[in-house]
Amino acid sequence: MNEQTKYVLDEAHLPEAWYNINADMPVPPQPVLNPQTLEPVTPEFLNVLFPMNLIGQEVSPDRWIEIPEPVREVYKLWRPTPLFRARRLELVLDTPAHIYYKYEGVSPVGSHKPNTAVPQAFYNKEAGTQALTTETGAGQWGSALAMACNFFDIDLEVYMVKVSYQQKPYRRVIMETYGAEVFPSPTEKTAVGRQILAQDANSPGSLGIAISEAVEVAATSGGTKKYSLGSVLNHVLLHQTVIGLEALDQMEMADEYPDMVIGCTGGGSNFAGLAYPFLHQNFTNGKSTRVIAVEPTSCPTLTRGHYTFDYGDTAGMAPIVKMHTLGRNFVPAGIHAGGLRYHGMSPSLSALVHNGDIEAQAVNQLATFEAAIQFAKAEGIVAAPESAHAIRVAIDEALHCKEAGDKKVILFNLSGHGHFDMGAYNDFLQGKLQDYEYPAEAVEAAMAQLPEIELA
Ligand SMILES: *Cc1c(COP(=O)(O)O)cnc(C)c1O
Repeated sequence: MNEQTKYVLDEAHLPEAWYNINADMPVPPQPVLNPQTLEPVTPEFLNVLFPMNLIGQEVSPDRWIEIPEPVREVYKLWRPTPLFRARRLELVLDTPAHIYYKYEGVSPVGSHKPNTAVPQAFYNKEAGTQALTTETGAGQWGSALAMACNFFDIDLEVYMVKVSYQQKPYRRVIMETYGAEVFPSPTEKTAVGRQILAQDANSPGSLGIAISEAVEVAATSGGTKKYSLGSVLNHVLLHQTVIGLEALDQMEMADEYPDMVIGCTGGGSNFAGLAYPFLHQNFTNGKSTRVIAVEPTSCPTLTRGHYTFDYGDTAGMAPIVKMHTLGRNFVPAGIHAGGLRYHGMSPSLSALVHNGDIEAQAVNQLATFEAAIQFAKAEGIVAAPESAHAIRVAIDEALHCKEAGDKKVILFNLSGHGHFDMGAYNDFLQGKLQDYEYPAEAVEAAMAQLPEIELA
């Protein structure tokens, strides 16, 4: 047994291609639908929002997609990222399990999100896009895309959920440092924003609303602006697979293979980034790793949502996809894991959960922060509240191993650090946080607003 704590790959081992799970899906993908016609979308429709090169990746059947050299050059600023064995946490838990984590918090903006922001900016630049629009919740995605757009010389407008804009002013300053323009959503700039403000002048905003605004601005720009999404879509998830591809090599350096792979899920991108390359091993190489997606009980998309066709945004302007959903009008409780508050989920991840290839668990906010504090004290890293959901389940599984005397190997994704979430940690430490379970009745009520889809 190898006694190392940290497994570091050199730049020469940066992956040369992303893994595309489309090639190995055990169930066929469902069509993406046009929100106006309710018919399968055409490339021309998607091209209003996205450049053709990214649309090509969205529907590509190819298992491997080469990473362009200029993208690899930028990746080298922080990749490959380290894989740690959490030896000190194992000691505290007194567990026979071996716990590993892949740490994405070493990127310049502190999360996994630049893994897709950089290629999205690159492909848009190649396609001649002058400006991008996007939404951001907690500001993690906005800051990643702001950095990437700066590197590839593209303008950026960010629609930031108003409650986060107010709670996290420093994230806005990071985006502005890279040169982006940031607006608190809902704004008066769009028809959607004006309509929502007319109903509720104090609307705290939501990711669904901010997406509608960013989509509207791009769709009505006459082609100069495109829209960029930080999660959910297939091309986003596949860009993130550098995480799992590196982790496969690093687990080999450690001379172990994970029995469990765990990640938190907002739209599914950091989870898929780590887990899909291991699912590839399950599907094609006889492995049987348990793959566990973790979400908050306050936004229980996978554990309580319905698997059905729904709009990607609140206003019904974004494409309709088949996914787990809480309904497009979902307005989350003001919990502190801002990145985990989207009403829907990536279609491939939803299909894999539905098919039984991936397990899903929901955890409470207080138990999640308890895990984050235990992890910070043992390993030194103050995790993003989103990532702490994965820590919670990794600790729970390690404790099950202790009871059972089981020497399992657990790997989880530490998707980011929590240095901009001190308000949340402060609230927890002062006993001001509460658990919140999204009511089952609210899920049922929301299902009345689903689009009525009849596919041939
Ligand atoms: C955005 C974010 C998430 C949630 O988004 P996914 O697409 O599900 O990964 C999780 N962790 C961190 C640190 C984030 O910034």
